[in-house]
This record gives sequence, C-alpha cells and structure tokens, in this order.
Amino acid sequence: MALQFQLQKIPEASLRLGRLSLRESAPKTGVARVLETPTFVVTTQRGTVPHLTADNADQVSPGIVTIFAEHLLEYVPTPILESDLDGRRFFNIKNDWIIFDVRDPSKEHKAKDHSKKIYRAETSGGVRQMTLDQYVTLARKIRPDVLVALSDDLNGPMESKDRVQKSVSCTLHWLDQIREADTGDMGILATLKGAHLLDQRKHSAEQTATREAVDGFVLDDLHFAPSAQAQLDWISASVGPLPSAKPRLAYLIPGPNRVLDSIDKGIDLFDSAYPLQMTDAGQAIAFRFSGPPSTSSEAKVTPAPAGLDLHDTVFKSDMTPLQAGCSCLTCRKYTRAYVHHLLVTKEMLASVLLIVHNLQTWGDFFAKIRGTLQEGHFSQAREQFRQSYPDLL
Ligand SMILES: [Zn+2]
Repeated sequence: MALQFQLQKIPEASLRLGRLSLRESAPKTGVARVLETPTFVVTTQRGTVPHLTADNADQVSPGIVTIFAEHLLEYVPTPILESDLDGRRFFNIKNDWIIFDVRDPSKEHKAKDHSKKIYRAETSGGVRQMTLDQYVTLARKIRPDVLVALSDDLNGPMESKDRVQKSVSCTLHWLDQIREADTGDMGILATLKGAHLLDQRKHSAEQTATREAVDGFVLDDLHFAPSAQAQLDWISASVGPLPSAKPRLAYLIPGPNRVLDSIDKGIDLFDSAYPLQMTDAGQAIAFRFSGPPSTSSEAKVTPAPAGLDLHDTVFKSDMTPLQAGCSCLTCRKYTRAYVHHLLVTKEMLASVLLIVHNLQTWGDFFAKIRGTLQEGHFSQAREQFRQSYPDLL
C-alpha cells in the first residue's frame, strides 16, 4: 500500500481520529509524512489555489491539495505534457501531498456520454475525450502522491435507475483497469457511486471494498442530496460496507454543521468548497468551534457570528482584525475596514486576504475537531455548536 492509515483509540470509540501517512519508500522530499484526520484538502484550479500565489498557499494549506485532470485538458496540447517538469515543479507545489482526480465536483456538468473506453470531460475549452491510458499518462507525468480512479459521473440527482447502475458498473470497470496500470508508488482512491439509490450506493461500496490495491475511498454525488438527512443517509449507505482502516473523502459537504454530522458518520477528509464560497461572497468565517468545555467558556456566552459580510458599511471604520485571536497573515496585519475598502473598490487583494483567513480558519476548525475527538468531547462540542449556529449548514 502506498498510503497507510491508522485509526487511533479515542474515548468516543464509534468516531474516527486518524493518521494518514505516505509509505516510507515514497520518493518525496520536503513533504510532511503524516496528516492527522479529520482534515480537509485544498481543491485547486489548474493546480493553483484560487486567489493565492504558491508561497502564500503554502502558508495556509493543511498539507494536501487536489488537482483535477479536466482543468488541465482545457488547452490542446496539454501544457504539462509539453513540459520537462513533473506536477510538483510545474505547479510549484513544494510541501503538500498531491491528489490527482479527474473531475472538479464544484463545477456544473452537462450530460455526457461516457463509454467504458472513452471518458468525456467538459472543459471551458470544449468537450475533451480521454482514454484511461491517457489519464494514466497524465498521472504519471504529474506524479501525484494519490491517484483517484476514473468515475462515470452523473448529470443530476434523479437519473434513471439504469443510468445509475451503468455509472456504478463503469466506475468499477475503470477502477479495475487503473489497478492493473503502472501507477508506481501512487496511492489509489476509488470513487463510490450510486447517486440517490441507496441500494446502488451500498452495491458500489461493497464491490469496491472487495478490490485489492485500493488505499481509500471518495464518496461522490453527495451534493445532489435534497436535504441534510438525505445526505447523511447517502453517506451511511456508502460507508457501511467499507473497511474501517481506510480513509474516506467526501466532496462538497456544504458547511460546518454538515461536516460535524459527516464526521459522526465516518468521513475523514473534506474539501475547501466552504472557505472558497465564503471568500467569493466577500465574507470572512467567524464562527467558533469551542472544543472541550474545560478549555473554553466562550461558546456559553453570546456566540460569535457565523460569518462577516465585509461588504457591509458597518465595517467602514472598524479597525479590528477579521477575527480576534486569529493568527493568520490577514488578521495580524490588516483590518476589517481595509478589507471592506478593497471590496468596495473591487481590488483583487480583497479575495487574497479573505482566502488566507478563511483557509486558516477552516484548518483551525478541523484542528479543534481533532482536539475534541482526542479528549472525548466531540459529541458534546458538536451539539453545542449546533445550538450556537442552528441556521448554518
Ligand atoms: Zn484571520
């Protein structure tokens, strides 16, 4: 196995506190060998963290990023295939693990007609066809730490049963082909399909769990869920058949309350959709997850707001940082009034300062979650958070 995952013993035994590590022989230097879970991965656009230079991104990354093939296929010929550099040097990713996946789940996709031989990716440059061999060639050029097997993505929440079954079957077929391909030291994650059909989600997970040389799982289609409860039911159907000793990544869990609920259902890895959405809306994350009650009495007082809309003129003369006590570069050096000014004057720096704060705060949220798991207060802290922020997703 290229990846190793170890669950730690914790007081609330049904929950998961994990340690994800690269195999010792993995030929990387300067990359942290161990990631504590639950945590999040930073999803990139064309290998770049939105709004940030590589050096700034390095300061706020949790240590792991995802690059999507469909972003790289926009241009013909594909620039990285024309380059002498591997992905780490091409994208200037110094210290993070790289996950290479095919499709950016945050993008709306129109119907496509995949076959078992051809994957069709919808890019801003048009529809691109890609064989599995071409996907593997791209991966071998990028040399990620983790490769996500191709999956047959769906077009919406209510596809027909036949279409969902085809998606499950085609995804398993591609997984088997990836397992047989020469992918070197890359860890392999398998995507679980099934959309809204719980029996198909269970079938996809059961079949995938029987495959050897799979290091972990990606839960897909969750953003199609029509309600919070449906999303949790879909997660449960997928997670149930999985071996406990392999990590599970879920894309597009929409907010902190849903993250806490998903952790309770057995998810280990999330993405950066929430801090990016907040940034694009001109908002700073401001909620506080209190952690063990013995170390914080803050949440028992009036809770902080969940977010600050920096467009609001109330911040015009506010010389305080975005969030008191935050150690991010933005909060150490700049004020709410300055970020408000940048937004009003439509300066790009507004998004830079906001994403720095929002990614760091998102990382702090997960660090505190791990603290509560370690101390045995997760369920209590989760309930306290929900009472403080009942309207937050
Ligand atoms: Zn900050």
